[in-house]
Amino acid sequence: MYLCAVTEYLKDPIFNLISASADELDAHAYVIGGYVRDIFLKRESKDIDVVTTGKGIELAELVHKKLGEEAYLSVFKNFGTAQVKYHDLEIEFVGARKESYNRNSRKPIVEDGSLEDDQNRRDFTINALAIGLNKSNYGKLIDPFGGVQDLENKIIRTPLEPGITYSDDPLRMMRAIRFASQLGFRIEAASLKAISDYKDRINIVSKERITDELNKIILSPVPSVGFKLLFDTGLLHLIFPDMVKLHGVETIHGKSHKDNFYHTLEVLDNTARNSTNLWLRWAAILHDIAKPATKRFEPEHGWTFHGHEDKGARMVPKIFTQLRLPLNEKMKYVQKLVQLHLRPIVLAKTEITDSAVRRVLFEAGDDIDDLMTLCEADITTKNPNKVKRYLQNFEIVRQKLKELEEKDRIRNWQPPVSGEEIMSLFNLPPSRQVGDLKNALKDAILDGVIPNEREAALHFLGQKARELCLIK
Ligand code: ATP
Repeated sequence: MYLCAVTEYLKDPIFNLISASADELDAHAYVIGGYVRDIFLKRESKDIDVVTTGKGIELAELVHKKLGEEAYLSVFKNFGTAQVKYHDLEIEFVGARKESYNRNSRKPIVEDGSLEDDQNRRDFTINALAIGLNKSNYGKLIDPFGGVQDLENKIIRTPLEPGITYSDDPLRMMRAIRFASQLGFRIEAASLKAISDYKDRINIVSKERITDELNKIILSPVPSVGFKLLFDTGLLHLIFPDMVKLHGVETIHGKSHKDNFYHTLEVLDNTARNSTNLWLRWAAILHDIAKPATKRFEPEHGWTFHGHEDKGARMVPKIFTQLRLPLNEKMKYVQKLVQLHLRPIVLAKTEITDSAVRRVLFEAGDDIDDLMTLCEADITTKNPNKVKRYLQNFEIVRQKLKELEEKDRIRNWQPPVSGEEIMSLFNLPPSRQVGDLKNALKDAILDGVIPNEREAALHFLGQKARELCLIK
């Protein structure tokens, strides 16, 4: 049944061209790995991996020659691989390999091997599928480990004994969880146990690679699937201990706080439903990260987490550094959202004043919509009446934000009178007084005391300077 489907999916003319080239060189060639898996998952892929017996580079060179000027060839002699780019296709050519590992590194000793050796070194049965490309076996699926069946049953399984597979290259533990989360698959019990057993081996994997996989988990449709697996296997404790600290419930005098780990996962899933932005999803993960550090039990109020938004924002750079995430404007964006994540909630809970709305607009700037998305995702109460009420309030906040932005243009606010002008107007050197006047002007505009206009600002500054005895 699958044979026809597979041949049919090799309809891109590139496959005939690779086939003819391989026959010409008297080499065996197969499409392998993710591209074949994605055929069965009905996901279109532009990355094609071709494995050949020996002759990987020669095959790439011949394919490149036949494709002509519109194709680009890169050869990586040290690795024995080559890549051909042709329009939107990227085709990797590599000789079939046999791999053996030593304990302290995930870099294997590599030697030439057969297709079978090459399939044995693959991480999962669903990633070990190959399709013949020579004339003699064109379109023939070679599925030695039941990968197609596993795709149907939605299961992640290793071709060889799981303990060996994961211990040899512990990045595969992250990959197993990543595929489970991306595809909504289950990890086979023996694999799951092996991941728990060998979790400490993750320490030989570079932080960058771990974070690459973590980001793919975060970008998956329901990221909590991956995080729960990371937590249950104990991997999360090793790769991101600050997140594990959110786990657990404490009870004093019969009063418990919520489990902030599962709450965070709900917020992350809610965010993921409304946005594909990786950094907004990171803000969801980190929004309550300082709750464990700020937790207090106050007999009159119960559990409090005062200042967790400030402390959380301050924790962001350290976490980004540890996880090798970028320390640039992406980090600043996450910091800003963590810092501000309670503000719209306060707006929604209390009588909404224009002044408070203007201040949130001013501080969030262009990220205001993302902030609102995060805050709505933060509603995880199970009480449907409360959900309804909070959402209605947020709708009012959104409306108000829109009205005030149209009226006052606060989002990308620049003072209508600059610091330099203030200095020359009042004959002041650079000094604290200039800062005081600028702040007073900003507050007056945000509080709606004066409109966001130059004339009104100049008048206000004159009055203020008089009050401060800067002019008569
Ligand atoms: P995606 O394209 O979604 O990132 P992928 O697994 O298809 O996932 P790659 O990470 O480029 O893409 O891997 C290509 C193939 O190489 C995989 O399908 C798998 O057969 C093999 N592979 C990749 N990493 C490993 C590994 N750590 N151990 C064993 N096989 C691997």
